[in-house]
Amino acid sequence: MNESIGLLNKVFGFEGFRGEQEAICSQILGGGDALVLMPTGGGKSLCYQLPALLLPGTALVVSPLIALMKDQVESLRELGVQAGFLNSSQSPAEAREVEAKLLRGELKLLYVAPERLNTDSFYHLLRRFQVSLFAVDEAHCVSKWGHDFRPEYLQLARLFGYFPNIPKIALTATADQATKEEIIQRLGLERAQVFISSFDRPNLFYRIAHKQDGRRQLLAFIQSKHAGEAGIVYCLSRKKVEDTAKWLCTQGIKALPYHAGLAPEQRARNQEVFIKKEGLVMVATIAFGMGIDKPDIRFVVHMDLPKNLEAYYQETGRAGRDGLKADLFLLYNLADLITHRKFANNPDLPPEVAVHEEARRVWFLSFLESIRCRRESILEYFGEKYQGPCGACDNCLDRPQQKEGTLLAQQALSNIYRTGQRYGVGHLVQVLMGASSPKIKQLGHDQLSTYGLGRSASEEDWKGVYRQLMAQGLVKVDPEGGGLFLSDLARPVLKGQAPVFLREDAVSFQRLAKTSSRPTRPVAAEFSRSDSKDLFERLRQLRRELASERDLPPYMIFNDKSLWEMAEVRPQSLIALGHLYGVGEVKLEHYGDDFLRVIRDFEAG
Ligand code: ADP
Ligand code: ZN
Repeated sequence: MNESIGLLNKVFGFEGFRGEQEAICSQILGGGDALVLMPTGGGKSLCYQLPALLLPGTALVVSPLIALMKDQVESLRELGVQAGFLNSSQSPAEAREVEAKLLRGELKLLYVAPERLNTDSFYHLLRRFQVSLFAVDEAHCVSKWGHDFRPEYLQLARLFGYFPNIPKIALTATADQATKEEIIQRLGLERAQVFISSFDRPNLFYRIAHKQDGRRQLLAFIQSKHAGEAGIVYCLSRKKVEDTAKWLCTQGIKALPYHAGLAPEQRARNQEVFIKKEGLVMVATIAFGMGIDKPDIRFVVHMDLPKNLEAYYQETGRAGRDGLKADLFLLYNLADLITHRKFANNPDLPPEVAVHEEARRVWFLSFLESIRCRRESILEYFGEKYQGPCGACDNCLDRPQQKEGTLLAQQALSNIYRTGQRYGVGHLVQVLMGASSPKIKQLGHDQLSTYGLGRSASEEDWKGVYRQLMAQGLVKVDPEGGGLFLSDLARPVLKGQAPVFLREDAVSFQRLAKTSSRPTRPVAAEFSRSDSKDLFERLRQLRRELASERDLPPYMIFNDKSLWEMAEVRPQSLIALGHLYGVGEVKLEHYGDDFLRVIRDFEAG
């Protein structure tokens, strides 16, 4: 080990090992295998580079990141270490030159792209030099269900079978148990010692917020905290990537798009500009990121929900590799939760994987709405004990509170039940708000006991309640139609046997408190505005005229309740008018303009 420390100082210029590095190097130098789980920026490369220098022969480093190989080799050369790479970016002449060096025993490390490994010529080559160790970087690429899956990685076990006595080391920044087991199994690393480092990234600040006007929130975040700094903004769709990047540019923020739909050259160019230039924002889908080892990414924003916590952790992990403070900002709303749920339905997954995926998704949703220290939750998820508050997450800094909201939860749940457990949040909220759309009338939902129950609250409040209920697993979403239905957990709540707590910042309790004590339907005789009665009379006058022209009873034009709402709400457009009680499509077409005119004239004085 003295020799190791000596080289560490001499070659790498480091004073000592970090964390598990020393133990990992000893394991490899002793001829054993290792599986290394270490967060981004933790210092994984040293774990195979140092043994490679001490062992006779050449270390074979398998890496899917062709774009990075050149940099890695160059930086090793800068340290005076002889290294080379073989991948598809090279000309045959260049490759031959590397092979010649290899066969002359001049390389301590050889980086290879996985697709090389399966060729006969490469097998042949392997027999002609001494392999000191095998290192598999980004080892999670072996996982069939991860989005970084590389089929060529599945061939590695066979290759290793030919070299039973050569040490093998697999490395990844993925922390989850299932992937860990998959790596061991698929690479045949049953005898490997597993080294798990802490996945805490103390320099990362977590913030998760409710998305209202996403773009504005994004802009404010960048302008107030990260003007002129490099960052990544993740969006779900290619179109949103394009639109957001363009929009940021119009707002004076230099941004580039990146997604799988761009031409490869364009993608490569954007990536290069992002890495080389300072202060650029990369707006991207998840196609962007693996192998980005730009050290000074100061923020990562999620404009849409990542798939689960592993994905969130990995995507956010790209920030702050240099150990300096970096900000993470995730924005989401109810619609995102529903989209998230729809995406979940992947029929290609075998049932046991689907169950596991579902559990991870459910956990992630509850994490979003939790008031616990983010770091504590994340580390617990990865099997680590950590005692918050960390002082560097939204929940530690803002200390959100929860309040008992059982009654509200019951109202929202019962509304789902009474409407038949098949409608989306938009409709459910409309029913609670007592809106009068043709759909509500047609379905008879204006006759339900929950109709208008939540009128004095805002739509946002009710969405907040539904979001919380979904995150807590009381409500589920039908992945096909997006309709909400009750889970088993909802029954005790409806029966009054289990309390429900809601985040105070997601729901305006004062407003909602009024809801429950108010009459559930407006009393037509009462007007909240002093002059509404006058308007009401004018509307009645119009109704009378229309009725006599058509020889109809006036109530067939609109009943009093509709006129009452018109006088109170005073809609200014056909669309707004159409939302009122008793205003269906046909009546809107026949009479809408006449009634709007009266309302407008009245408002104009
Ligand atoms: P990873 O591959 O795990 O993301 P790297 O191997 O790129 O991380 O290392 C991250 C940074 O930490 C690099 O800048 C590296 O030089 C530095 N580093 C690694 N080991 C040590 C050490 N023992 N002492 C000081 N710095 C280290
Ligand atoms: Zn915290």
